[in-house]
Amino acid sequence: MRYHNITKDDMLNGDGLRVVLWVAGCSHGCKDCQNPITWDPQGGLPFTEEEKKEIFQELDKAYISGITFSGGDPLHPANIREVTALAREIRQRYPEKTIWLYTGYLWKEIVDLEIVNYLDVVVDGKFISAQKDITLPWRGSSNQKVIDVPSTLKEGKIVLQEE
Ligand code: SF4
Repeated sequence: MRYHNITKDDMLNGDGLRVVLWVAGCSHGCKDCQNPITWDPQGGLPFTEEEKKEIFQELDKAYISGITFSGGDPLHPANIREVTALAREIRQRYPEKTIWLYTGYLWKEIVDLEIVNYLDVVVDGKFISAQKDITLPWRGSSNQKVIDVPSTLKEGKIVLQEE
């Protein structure tokens, strides 16, 4: 897996102050995507043990609410295996921290993936320029859903995260 950035004390991509991993690789091709540099799975830098350590050092801080996986698409075939393993490990090591994930896929396309068992929130769906709304928290366009994953899995139908 490759990545573009690890941002810290991020307030825009989930609840509270977060560490955000921006992975390389996305095949959704949304019109007016803000981050087309992240489309190429060969772009950016290799994600190694060093980067993992950097993320864990952030999660060790009491004021950090958790991690957000973004990109690119963390569920792109180039990323899904490693992002799943990382989410699994973070869930075990930091049970009190939250894990958010942004993806261009729809919930119904990802519901059976192993990774959803480790996630607190998924923001799903492509960015649709015509539905762009900068007043919405945590998402770029109104078609995207901010999904409370544990409640959704329990209820068997989509439950939205409270804003
Ligand atoms: S899913 Fe995100 S990164 Fe991928 S093309 Fe759409 S807006 Fe860009």
